[in-house]
Amino acid sequence: MPASVIDGKAIALEIQGEVAEQIKSRVAAGLRPPGLATILVGDDGASRIYVRNKRRACDAAGIRSFDHDLPGNTPQQALLELIDELNTDDDVDGILVQLPLPGHIEETLVIERITPTKDVDGFHTLNVGRLNSGQDAMVPCTPVGCLLMLKEVVGDRTGMQAIVVGRSNIVGKPMAALLLKEHCTVTIAHSRTRDLAGECRRADIVIAAVGRARMVKGAWIKPGATVIDVGINRIDDASRKSGTRLVGDVDFDETVKVAGAITPVPGGVGPMTIACLLQNTLTAACRQTGVPEPE
Ligand code: NDP
Repeated sequence: MPASVIDGKAIALEIQGEVAEQIKSRVAAGLRPPGLATILVGDDGASRIYVRNKRRACDAAGIRSFDHDLPGNTPQQALLELIDELNTDDDVDGILVQLPLPGHIEETLVIERITPTKDVDGFHTLNVGRLNSGQDAMVPCTPVGCLLMLKEVVGDRTGMQAIVVGRSNIVGKPMAALLLKEHCTVTIAHSRTRDLAGECRRADIVIAAVGRARMVKGAWIKPGATVIDVGINRIDDASRKSGTRLVGDVDFDETVKVAGAITPVPGGVGPMTIACLLQNTLTAACRQTGVPEPE
């Protein structure tokens, strides 16, 4: 039997609807709407699309968007000063700096400058530390989105074998921390892992966050396993008008025949990342204004 395909778009829409309702109630109660500042430095095409989608989703949910589009040659100091301003702006609950930044800017320095309570991406060391020590934290949006999709199809994750392929700070590592919190037995794989196929084959849950088109093969998947594909890779496709199309890190056509459930690309993790950003922004606003957080 082919795997069930987890509809990230539909789940994301549901979450966005709930966030919009909660914001409506906040505003009806006389509170200001949440505010998210997004900073885009330079002209990277993919980053521009991601930021545009995030801003549109904010508007639709009733979140005020504060847009800062800076030229690629913006000095690091100017970016840090903008963050300082946003840190003290009471209308701004969340600050998102779109990565990657141009080479002359040190990403770590920029992320560390954001007040941790406004760090809706969850990349600040304080939030990373809190997540890894089991405390309440701002958690990166993509791994949260993956976990929510996983929960749609796997009831109790306790004791399950999970593998995260990829160990980046923004996806792989926080994903592993979340799965540990779910009491999974977690393997983190990376480019130096020996026998990656064998490691994947033992897993009940496979999270692929590698950035290599269709690298994870159907033969690597244990029958019935749940596969979450984070990858977004653009490949040539002469049959399309654009000449390209998006694929994940998982070979979907092979894997859908073996897995129990799988996320598609596009329409899987991507929309969930945006939905979770809205959720994090609402949470930050609640904390900032001393209002109880939504469940
Ligand atoms: P990074 O490039 O930061 O990390 C990639 C990871 O994959 C590294 O840990 C690397 O290992 C590992 N890796 C690379 N090649 C191999 C290999 N042959 N075998 C095993 N592991 C390998 O990527 P990100 O984590 O930022 O992103 C991963 C993918 O997810 C990308 O396609 C990105 O576009 C996508 N993405 C999607 C999002 C969404 O919303 N859907 C959000 C964020 C990312 P090592 O550490 O050893 O180099």
